[in-house]
Amino acid sequence: MRAIEAEKAGGPEVLRLVDAPLPEPGPGQIRIRHEAIGLNFIEVYQRTGLYPMTYPARLGQEAAGVVDAVGDGVTRFKMGDRAGFVGGSSGAYAEASIVPAERAVHIPASVPSETAAACLLKGMTAEFLVRRTFHVKQGDAMLVHAAAGGVGSILTQWGHALDARVLGAVGSDEKAKVAKAQGCDEVLIYGRDNVPERVKALTGGKGAAVVYDSVGKATFDDSLASLAKRGMLVSFGNASGPAPAIEPLRLSRGGSLFLTRPTLFDYIATTEELDESAAALFEMVGSGKIRIEIGQRFPLDQVRQAHEALEGRKTTGSTVIVP
Ligand code: NDP
Repeated sequence: MRAIEAEKAGGPEVLRLVDAPLPEPGPGQIRIRHEAIGLNFIEVYQRTGLYPMTYPARLGQEAAGVVDAVGDGVTRFKMGDRAGFVGGSSGAYAEASIVPAERAVHIPASVPSETAAACLLKGMTAEFLVRRTFHVKQGDAMLVHAAAGGVGSILTQWGHALDARVLGAVGSDEKAKVAKAQGCDEVLIYGRDNVPERVKALTGGKGAAVVYDSVGKATFDDSLASLAKRGMLVSFGNASGPAPAIEPLRLSRGGSLFLTRPTLFDYIATTEELDESAAALFEMVGSGKIRIEIGQRFPLDQVRQAHEALEGRKTTGSTVIVP
């Protein structure tokens, strides 16, 4: 089968197409024939070495397709079922992968595999961020960074569905249109708007109850300064580089603030949590409260171009790789 490897840590040029044997599932595992593969920023960190791997490394965290081989002892899936996964596989940038059955989820009939691959990782991230890291309630002002991106698009729509007041921050006027269409009440543009000042002005001087910051280094200080008293900064990504170290006293001076740095895999650590998170997401997608926009598609042998687009801030919504 065809698969993509990073031969070493580095730029997009380290990604290469390889011919690999079709893997066979061991006990408790299933093989999924991919119909679509999701592209996620975490794979950029794994490729650059920010999140170190043993190289050469198979990359890819998320895919959806059809179960075409089942290992001994598996009762959760049978041949022909549609399944998706996030993490824990033999590498999603491939035509098929092996996953422990306990770490795969069933995809409902109403959700096409391409949609599942475009939303499982990003959408379960949005689920835990708005429901479990900070419990978003009606009327809460929430600031979403990179609001037209993959996670940002879903987070925005989820916040809107909860009747929060969603303030989005984006890098361009075109992305501002995307963010508005997804339910942002107000959109701020990096480099043009003073983010904390605008957030304060838009919230009657109070600031945001929660800031979801996936950009990291470039936005961290503005995010802290945009919070209301006892607000929470959820720093969950490093698209511009890792957020800096801070002294706890800064949280006190900022108004008794909370700071957390969560990661999806700690919120779907058990199979029960995984199933519940996926069910909540599929309910939002199936009911039409959240639309999954696939902004761009790339064939498997063009993963390099997909990485260049994602890192180059040229994508909107989700990006799918077609095996
Ligand atoms: P996105 O589609 O959001 O792409 C990243 C976006 O970040 C860009 O489009 C860009 O939007 C913005 N950005 C701002 N500054 C930079 C920069 N210097 N370089 C690159 N991009 C920049 O990606 P994903 O949806 O895949 O992921 C979003 C974020 O969420 C990532 O940081 C990822 O690591 C994080 N994440 C964290 C998880 C967790 O469990 N903690 C799980 C899943 C994702 P613009 O042009 O509008 O500024």
